[in-house]
Amino acid sequence: MQAESRKISRRTFLKESSVAVAAVSAFTLVRPGRVRGAMTESSRVGAIVLLGPPGAGKSEQGRRLSERHSIPVISTGDQLREHVKRGTPFGLQADPYMKAGKLVPDSLMNPILEERLSQPDCVRGFILDGYPRTLAQAEDLDVLLKNKGLAPHVILLDVPTERLLKLLSGRRVCPNCRRTYNLYYQPPKKEGVCDVDGTALVQRPDDQPKVIRRRLDTYQKETQPAIDYYLRQGRLLRVNGNQTPEKVAAEIESKLASQ
Ligand code: AMP
Repeated sequence: MQAESRKISRRTFLKESSVAVAAVSAFTLVRPGRVRGAMTESSRVGAIVLLGPPGAGKSEQGRRLSERHSIPVISTGDQLREHVKRGTPFGLQADPYMKAGKLVPDSLMNPILEERLSQPDCVRGFILDGYPRTLAQAEDLDVLLKNKGLAPHVILLDVPTERLLKLLSGRRVCPNCRRTYNLYYQPPKKEGVCDVDGTALVQRPDDQPKVIRRRLDTYQKETQPAIDYYLRQGRLLRVNGNQTPEKVAAEIESKLASQ
C-alpha cells in the first residue's frame, strides 16, 4: 500500500500509536460501491454507519445486517469494554470516562477503531454501532474511509422520544441468561421473572430515569451535529424505528439498495 494513501489529512488519526502501526488497512482494496438488493457473498458492502438514540434498536439491527451481509458489527462500546476487561493501556485510560458516562477522548477511541477496522474480517465491509458520536468523529471517519476508497452508508433510526423513554425505562434483563424484556412492549409471562429460567429480572443501572435523561441529552448535544453533517452531505438514510424489528430491517435494506 502506498504511504500516501494512508495519510490522514485533517487530523492525525493515529498519531504515534503503536496500534496505528499495525493498522495497515485492507480498505484501499475496497472501492466505494453501492449496496444493492441482490447481495452476494463475494460482493463488497462497504461501511454502514448505524445512528440513532440510545434504545432505538441499533444493536438489534446491527445483528440483522451482519447476518444478512456476512460482515462484522463493530460496536465501539464493546471494543472499549473488551480493552477494559483485558486491562490494556487503552482500557485503563478509557475506564474512568466510561464509568462517569462520558465520551472517551478521540485520542484513545480512534486508534482502537482503526485497529479493529484493519482486521481481515472487515475487508468486505463492516457495520459501525456507536461511532461516530460527535461531529469531529464523523469528520475523522470520513477521512479514514476516504483514504481507503470508501464512503459511509449512514442509517438513522428515528424513534419518538416518548417511545424511547418507554423502551429504556421499561427494559428488564435476566441476569442469568441475558434475555431482554420490556414491561410495555414485551413483558415476561409472569411478572418480574424470566420466562426461560425463572430468575428475577433486573433493570440496568443506566436505564434509571435520571441516567436515561442524561444519555438522551448527550445524544442530542453531541450526536445531533454529526447527524446534521450527514444530512448536509445528502448521505442520511432515515428509517422509521418505531415499528417491528422485522419491518425496520426491511426498510433499512430497501433504503440501502436504493442509495
Ligand atoms: P455504548 O455501549 O455504545 O453505550 O458505549 C459505552 C461507553 O463507551 C460510552 O458511554 C462511552 O463512554 C464509550 N464510547 C463508546 N463509543 C464511543 C465513541 N464513539 N466515542 C467516545 N466514547 C465512546
